Amino acid sequence: PPVVAVVGRPNVGKSTLVNRILGRREAVVEDVPGVTRDRVAYDAEWSGRRLTVVDTGGWLPDAAGLAAAIAEQARMAVDLADVVMFVVDATVGATDVDEAVVEILRRSGKPVVLVANKVDDAATELEATALWSLGIGEPHPVSALHGRGSGDLLDAVLAALPQQAPPQLLAVEGGPRRVALLGRPNVGKSSLLNKLARENRVVVDDVAGTTRDPVDELIELGGRSWRFIDTAGIRRRHRENQGADFYATLRTQSALERAEVAVVLVDAGQPLTEQDLRIISMVIEAGRSLVIAYNKWDLLDEERRHYLEREIDRQLYHARWAPRVNISALTGRHVDKLVPALDTALEGWGSRVPTAKLNQFFAELVAAHPHPIRGGKQPRVLFATQAGVRPPRFVLFTSGFLEEGYRRFIERRLREEFGFAGTPIEITMKIRE
Ligand code: GDP
Repeated sequence: PPVVAVVGRPNVGKSTLVNRILGRREAVVEDVPGVTRDRVAYDAEWSGRRLTVVDTGGWLPDAAGLAAAIAEQARMAVDLADVVMFVVDATVGATDVDEAVVEILRRSGKPVVLVANKVDDAATELEATALWSLGIGEPHPVSALHGRGSGDLLDAVLAALPQQAPPQLLAVEGGPRRVALLGRPNVGKSSLLNKLARENRVVVDDVAGTTRDPVDELIELGGRSWRFIDTAGIRRRHRENQGADFYATLRTQSALERAEVAVVLVDAGQPLTEQDLRIISMVIEAGRSLVIAYNKWDLLDEERRHYLEREIDRQLYHARWAPRVNISALTGRHVDKLVPALDTALEGWGSRVPTAKLNQFFAELVAAHPHPIRGGKQPRVLFATQAGVRPPRFVLFTSGFLEEGYRRFIERRLREEFGFAGTPIEITMKIRE
């Protein structure tokens, strides 16, 4: 969904406004996966349109001084937002800090909805009108506390959204495959991108109709074009501060939304970190195909290499189906192995097992390895069908609840039998009593 960032000085009522927006709509409130700090992003819905609302008040960068902190917050928000809600306290009026934020917003070119908050009664409305002087259009008077004006405000936000991007049809055939290059900072994403771009033909591509960071690059590898998603974001210098972690997560999320396959880069020279694992989990949860690239292979010694194998077995057990490449973005070692790995992952992602074959497989499986008897009953798989691809999704009709261990066993056997390299698979159970 489009991202609406709420920006403004402390105490102008950002959080109250966010609560008002969510509460009034009884919105489904969800954490953005992987965000551990206090919740700052929420799913909301207005007039049938889903929105992700980001409350930038949830964190304050460690910049020196209020003005610098707010400026930084505004910059990071506009990086990701499709629309910025800029909240000003109408009872105070525009301060110098507000003016500075306006400058940043104006330069960003992002649509801005100006919110004049704390307009609790008719008397304050005049003060809201004074905010026209900020030069960013009509102030929308609201009382976040009492709810006044928040419906009109959300209408204004929807109106300010860029034209809805055409649905990203995953089924499009023939077009360049869409690749997200992911990984924590310093694993070598931009180095790899540069390596690929330098040695291959590149077309910078403004994807019409999409918003945040519209710049992808088309890179020709192995005789075909691949669309690398959000290369602008990868190449941008990282800003070192608290918010960066959170925004990196959102950015990863939005790249995944548009990608078919993710290459997760990890640093082979260092033990896997929480963040590496979290990114891999995000790919799996998003249902995208996955290639894991161990970068900086040029730095490995024998000992580390030996240890690495065990580490991979242990920590990446849940993604053991992902093709792996051991590369060096620096020297170019095995970078050409990326294409076959991508092909493998994409093939698994899109593959389908005919129903007859699938049921024959299950008949044999259930006969040879029946579910353990539980409470005098033995649940059986009665019928199975593949409900979809990208990723492969299976529905099992069963005569009872299949326990976790058995479902994992089924997944393992499915993979042994039919492949599905490089792709998560989903298995849903429908119990027929
Ligand atoms: P990003 O933050 O993921 O985009 O990482 P960068 O591409 O900026 O790389 C971070 C640092 O790692 C830089 O100093 C790179 O020169 C270095 N680096 C990247 N790839 C390799 C590699 O394969 N081998 C070695 N030795 N260094 C690398």
